[in-house]
Amino acid sequence: MSVQRVELVLLGTGTSAGVPVIGCSCEVCRSSDPRDRRTRSGALLRFTDPRGARRDVLIDCPPDHREQSLRLGLDRCDGILFTHHHVDHTFGLDDVRRYNAIMQAPIEIYADDRTLEHLDRVYRHVFHAKENVNDSFVANLIPRRIEAGRPFELHGVRVTPLDLRHGRVPVLGFRFDDASRSARAADPSHGVVVDDPLPIAYCTDVNSIPPATWRELRGVRTLVMDMLRYRAHPTHFTVDEAIAAAERIGAERTYFVHMTHDIRHADLDSKLPPGMHLGWDGLRIGAASIADSAASIARSPSSNSSTATLQLRAPPPSTESSLPLSSPPSPWPS
Ligand SMILES: [Zn+2]
Ligand SMILES: [Zn+2]
Ligand SMILES: [Zn+2]
Repeated sequence: MSVQRVELVLLGTGTSAGVPVIGCSCEVCRSSDPRDRRTRSGALLRFTDPRGARRDVLIDCPPDHREQSLRLGLDRCDGILFTHHHVDHTFGLDDVRRYNAIMQAPIEIYADDRTLEHLDRVYRHVFHAKENVNDSFVANLIPRRIEAGRPFELHGVRVTPLDLRHGRVPVLGFRFDDASRSARAADPSHGVVVDDPLPIAYCTDVNSIPPATWRELRGVRTLVMDMLRYRAHPTHFTVDEAIAAAERIGAERTYFVHMTHDIRHADLDSKLPPGMHLGWDGLRIGAASIADSAASIARSPSSNSSTATLQLRAPPPSTESSLPLSSPPSPWPS
């Protein structure tokens, strides 16, 4: 049995300051385009596991996680994968205690040594709860140490941590494959549905990719890649560097994330090479939208919906490469 109805949801697509930036009145920070409002970067991998249970796995837990969760109506968490220890990727962790309460179960968190050490220090009240002066409602988390190049299985998905460089800091990207398939089956007889986004690679906070990782990125169908801004930066890919990396990886579709207010969605998105898009908060990539397509098509930017759960429309039959994006989301509630 394989995983089904896989979708990747971009919960946040902004850099560490978010967009708009506090106190900034630039054109992008004042933009009325909802795609120019970027919370701190994180994502959700949602799928049905081989036993038929829905699974929600988070990638990072930014300070905006609570707001992202409320917008998307999240109500469970079946694991958290951390790319690295920076606060824009970890400072929402306190809020996952709500998922503990709903599910009445602990949550496994997967991170490398450096990130686990950081979490242990910052979240002493969680990981050393016995020291708390008063009993309090803290998250129930089980740390799992992972490292680049050592794949593991999570609810039927094979997760391969990827070695990426974020300036001088080694960080993890993630590649996701169906654990029941040794390689992506291009043959439709293997049961691949037309909008199966696997294999997916998620690579944020990166400005250099080591040789072994290029090899591990081969055959990726959906790529999420760091793209900070136009000007050079010591720890993130620029617009040109991100496009060059995406071209070399050659995924069918690439979405860029972790953007600053230097990037105006409408200016850049239409100029990207074929198959490449800027991500935006709430963008859903993949399969689950098939069953929900009626709802997604009914939703339009002019509707009064206060949520941004617009989805990819189900692709037209037998045109596998055609995965049109639906219209931009309704504006966030102000
Ligand atoms: Zn970051
Ligand atoms: Zn600005
Ligand atoms: Zn970072």
